[in-house]
Amino acid sequence: MCEENHTSRPPFKRRHLVFVTAVIVTMALSLQGCNLFTEDDEEPVVRETFLLGTLVRITVHEWEQGTDVEGALDETLVEMEKLGARVSVYEDESDVNRVNESPQTPIEVSEDTLHLLQTALQMNRETEGAFDPTIGPLVSLWGFYTGDYRVPDSEEIQHALQYVDASSVQVDPEARTVRIKEGMQLDLEALAKGLAAQRAEAALTERGVTSALISAGHSSVHAVGDGPGGRPWKIGLIHPRNLSEIYGKLQIRASEAVSTSGDYQRYFEENDTRYSHIIDPQTGRPGRTIKTITVLTDDSIIADALSTALFLFEPQEALQWADERGGVDVVIMTADGAVLYSEAIEDRLQLEDD
Ligand code: ADP
Ligand code: MG
Repeated sequence: MCEENHTSRPPFKRRHLVFVTAVIVTMALSLQGCNLFTEDDEEPVVRETFLLGTLVRITVHEWEQGTDVEGALDETLVEMEKLGARVSVYEDESDVNRVNESPQTPIEVSEDTLHLLQTALQMNRETEGAFDPTIGPLVSLWGFYTGDYRVPDSEEIQHALQYVDASSVQVDPEARTVRIKEGMQLDLEALAKGLAAQRAEAALTERGVTSALISAGHSSVHAVGDGPGGRPWKIGLIHPRNLSEIYGKLQIRASEAVSTSGDYQRYFEENDTRYSHIIDPQTGRPGRTIKTITVLTDDSIIADALSTALFLFEPQEALQWADERGGVDVVIMTADGAVLYSEAIEDRLQLEDD
């Protein structure tokens, strides 16, 4: 979770990506080693691409005899790119943009988009509305789609809030259509990386890869098989105020997924206040209680959605929410720098100043 760039970064459309990708890849390489590491760092095969607004890296450590690893990686990245083109708000022709461009009309979408949207709506119900796939008008108002950041006034926020309403999205699973109301804007970015990781896992496994790690920017890591030699993977938890350092290491096993949401991934500052890209659908303003939260669970889509949603909770409530739901563990650094974590992961979490 310590790849990608370390400054606030606006999302870019695909046609603007070539230069940006080069810069980010260079930075990622200079940070290499602080994110993914195993006990014995053998030479893994690494491949990177820029998709879903972030740098995706696949690190392959072990494979069945006769596997064409390079070929498997090529095909996996093509599948991930196709997925991104269907679901991302940053891709002009995506399902999400087609729905957004034609309010009041049922628009046919892909299975992937339908699945993500249905999961997003379920997450909305489970997190008391904190996760909201209709957050678009607010993300737009604060300038996070274009990078033209600004702090809107209360009136503008109230106006945008009228159009943030997950309960009014109409989904017809049989016809595979989605309809939104005028003024609304879907955004599935906060859980789409999770589906991309699942897709990559399936593609790599099918082609003979037995041990690999898939990571998306600072935020998601998905394990394919155990680490080299059957050992657990060790994931570095990036320090939200010193991005070249980690504040802890977390061990994960085959098929586990880890997702981090923080106020250092995409943000801007004005008058000494930091405004991050995760926006509370209740207040219309960025969350302020947590600096970074890492969620560990067995499903990478759920992990991705929950790190975003729980980022907006009070830290103690996020911890309690995870505890009550079961199968979800968290590590949180609060706004004042305290670290809280689920009891169940005590023996696989190593904090740096322990
Ligand atoms: P990252 O993309 O940095 O990994 P997240 O997975 O937490 O971070 O997703 C953040 C993105 O999700 C934002 O950039 C925005 O597009 C969208 N988003 C912002 N607030 C919410 C929210 N409350 N619910 C769902 N999606 C959100
Ligand atoms: Mg997320």
